[in-house]
Amino acid sequence: MAYKYLYNESTGALHILGFCPHSKIKPVKYKLFDTEQEAYTYAGKRIKACKICESKKENILHSQAK
Ligand SMILES: [Zn+2]
Repeated sequence: MAYKYLYNESTGALHILGFCPHSKIKPVKYKLFDTEQEAYTYAGKRIKACKICESKKENILHSQAK
């Protein structure tokens, strides 16, 4: 399953599309990436991963591992 990563240039927050309320807003000021790696390559240490999106991703990864 592929995720889309949304990077908010003004806050530095990295969201995953559809994972939290922030990422459901039409991404006007967001940059869209196909992988987390691309986002980090673009913005580096300025990125702060969204806690809601992160924990949702963790949950999904855990449930897939079973
Ligand atoms: Zn988020």
